[in-house]
Amino acid sequence: MLKICAYEVRQDEREYFSRLSRDYQCETVLYKEQLTPDTIAFAKGADAVTILGQSRIDRTMLALMKQRQIRFLNTRTVGYDHIDLNSARDLGIRVCHSGYAPNGVADYTVMLMLLVLRHYKPALWRGEVYDYSLKGLMGREMKDLTIGIIGTGKIGTCVIKNLSGFGCRILAYSRTHKEEVEKVCEYVDLDTLYKECDLISLHTPLSDSTYHMINQETIRKMKDQVILINCARGELMDLEALVDGIESGKLGGLGLDTVEGEQGLVHVDHRTDILKLRHIAYLRQFPNVVMTQHMAFYTDAAVRSMVETALSGLTQLSDSGCCPYMIS
Ligand code: NAD
Repeated sequence: MLKICAYEVRQDEREYFSRLSRDYQCETVLYKEQLTPDTIAFAKGADAVTILGQSRIDRTMLALMKQRQIRFLNTRTVGYDHIDLNSARDLGIRVCHSGYAPNGVADYTVMLMLLVLRHYKPALWRGEVYDYSLKGLMGREMKDLTIGIIGTGKIGTCVIKNLSGFGCRILAYSRTHKEEVEKVCEYVDLDTLYKECDLISLHTPLSDSTYHMINQETIRKMKDQVILINCARGELMDLEALVDGIESGKLGGLGLDTVEGEQGLVHVDHRTDILKLRHIAYLRQFPNVVMTQHMAFYTDAAVRSMVETALSGLTQLSDSGCCPYMIS
């Protein structure tokens, strides 16, 4: 029977782990801690480990796994930029990620668009103190906007489908083009997308080619008062450039479910901690910046699927050497 050590396990995943471990006939031990050199000992005797997005899996970590004869690694996330895949390949550790329907993240993306467009954050603040005034809260309508989607994979495509009901003009830029996307919007080059869009939403993975794709220079190419939405990965955007853009008024608003430097911050209660995250703290206080705690994925259906595809992926890797979400 395959022995799996699960790290970063949240309370809401526990029931799925115990039920699905029976279905997939594997033995699973659960820990809330991240996988680090200090916690690798928890995986004694395990064939495989599964993590979430906060564990940093570099070459040293992989070498420690190899020493303990751990052969398989899964991340219960869609993105896998926290894993050194080249080192995993060198060391012969097979890696897979998890999968879930893109709808939850796509719905959340549209929610952030509307929250920023309709100034919901300052409206909410005012309502709390019985200030029901309208000054400064005039919004814009989706039908009057050109919206740019960068990355038309599973999530980007679903966002485009959601948006097609709003009557806006949609432009897209992506490495790979899809016929179904071309039916409802136009693929353009990146400079055209920057120049023409009132709102831009990012849906690419984080990689060397996408790191800081939103920076001082690219923001300069955009329309004044452009709104940027990021439900993908924080490091796609240079945080300092975002702060400058909001301060100067070039950016009209930000909807950020992920932000550069969020590791260790998100999914934890920090109320009594002294945080050393000046840029994040400064950016989040602006009335036109909505920040959430990397929770676009967080639905009942997605959490179940994250655990299920982790267990099915690892058992398939062990039985046949491959699985649908294999990445190395
Ligand atoms: P996907 O692999 O289906 O799609 C990614 C798309 O980006 C593909 O179309 C690809 O061609 C394109 N792309 C890759 N590199 C590019 C580049 N340099 N320039 C232009 N296009 C490029 O992935 P997905 O399932 O749609 O997810 C996208 C990302 O969203 C994930 O990698 C993950 O980081 C993030 N995500 C965030 C959350 C959250 O809770 N906030 C949840 C799930 C996924």
